Amino acid sequence: MTLDRDTFFIDGAWAAPTSSGTIEVISPHTEEVVATVPEGTVADIDAAVAAARRAFDEGPWPRLTPQERIDVVQVFSGLYAGKLAEMADVITAEMGSPTSFSNLAQSPAPWMQIEAFLGIARSYPWEEVRDGVMGMPVMVRREPVGVVAAIPPWNVPQFTIMSKVVPALLAGCTVVVKPAPETPLDGYLMAELLHEAGVPAGVVNIVAGGREVGEHLVAHRGVDKVAFTGSTAAGRKIAAVCGEQLKRVSLELGGKSAAIVLDDADLTQAVEGLKFTALMNSGQACVAQTRILASRANYANVVDALAEAVGGMQVGDPMDPATEIGPMVAQRQQERVEKYIALGQEEGARLVVGGNGMPDGLDRGWYVRPTVFADVDNGMRIAQEEIFGPVLSVIPYDDVDDAVRIANDSDYGLAGTVWTGDQAAGLDVARRVRTGTYGVNTYTMDFSAPFGGFKASGLGREFGPEGLGQYTELKSIYLEAPTG
Ligand code: NAD
Repeated sequence: MTLDRDTFFIDGAWAAPTSSGTIEVISPHTEEVVATVPEGTVADIDAAVAAARRAFDEGPWPRLTPQERIDVVQVFSGLYAGKLAEMADVITAEMGSPTSFSNLAQSPAPWMQIEAFLGIARSYPWEEVRDGVMGMPVMVRREPVGVVAAIPPWNVPQFTIMSKVVPALLAGCTVVVKPAPETPLDGYLMAELLHEAGVPAGVVNIVAGGREVGEHLVAHRGVDKVAFTGSTAAGRKIAAVCGEQLKRVSLELGGKSAAIVLDDADLTQAVEGLKFTALMNSGQACVAQTRILASRANYANVVDALAEAVGGMQVGDPMDPATEIGPMVAQRQQERVEKYIALGQEEGARLVVGGNGMPDGLDRGWYVRPTVFADVDNGMRIAQEEIFGPVLSVIPYDDVDDAVRIANDSDYGLAGTVWTGDQAAGLDVARRVRTGTYGVNTYTMDFSAPFGGFKASGLGREFGPEGLGQYTELKSIYLEAPTG
């Protein structure tokens, strides 16, 4: 089956591109072209925004009742559930996510998001009447925010598209999605399912392209809200444009999260957990907990256990179900990670496993060796900057207060974990670390609860009723006092 495409999805139809430019999707494993798709231009984005604008200003979608929209999204959910394996394969093909992770998270998690948002929408206070304090009732309505620009990154493409498209749909918005150029393929499969589910023309439009078309979409006067997931650098630029235009914006940005291993932790359990929380998706995860904090007393034990576990991880073909670490998404990402590995050595950190060079047994593909650095000072660049690859820094702490101080000594504040035999002690640490999400002996995201970042990790929240609220405008309607 070919993954090639020659159209975009605009106004409910497969629309021909306005230019002949193409994106070659290259397998990070074979370095061969797996598909060719059109590259979106400013004119394609204009057509998509015009369709979304029409669908919002004149079309049926915002005027349906919440229950009518829920019914359509429920059909979409059922269709999506039937395509999880295919979706996982497409994502592995386009960006090299190990198939074990694709089948665990890349496609099931978006489907779980749809189901969670459906549940939230069913009991959401779309329109409520409050008693008021002026002796008269007041109606509070949650109305759709309008045309949404949804801009996802390549690392978890469906996950970050769905976290925007589904709440936008349920709220009655219309959407233009601009997938990243590395991952344009999964959006086509999603578009087919939305179409089949009966989402009206123009309600969701998809045009893949690079940064320039992203910038055009963000600044477009036809867009009411930007929902962005990506780097903090891009997030700052987008926030500036939206600030200027007083456009609604939500930003899910980078992270440099810390996992704190307390001395009473079950080390086997902690290291097994850290293999996932630090290295999921080959380390290409915003929530990756790549700073591992261990007490000086327990430091050597933690370093040894991590070195053994990480050194034994299977690296290679992402389609092999046994693979734990796949390739980096692109050559530039492989080079970036290798630069950080060299930098760590220059900064004086001790390389205990990994290092630069191809992993054993591989002679092509954009691979790096899973790497663990010990004796890392939290002030080093490898501890402060997001590497976005399988590189861990083990940092010593004096006591729990010191561990919390180090965890908080970061520009970011997205995620984190504490590993301990004492849940109350873990909860105490969780309350003190300034991040938007946190786990005690686990890091299992739950779509009923808000997700997002403190500090430079973002603005606003996705998931939960709070995430649905990001796609609404509040309106208060003052009513006459009831007579009689
Ligand atoms: P990126 O910022 O380079 O690009 C993200 C998306 O934005 C792409 O679609 C890109 O084409 C587009 N883009 C880039 N600059 C833009 C601009 N100025 N205006 C409009 N669009 C623009 O990020 P990336 O390399 O694709 O993704 C990795 C980053 O995403 C990491 O920093 C990671 O932490 C972050 N991320 C965050 C979350 C979260 O939920 N907080 C989730 C996943 C990834």
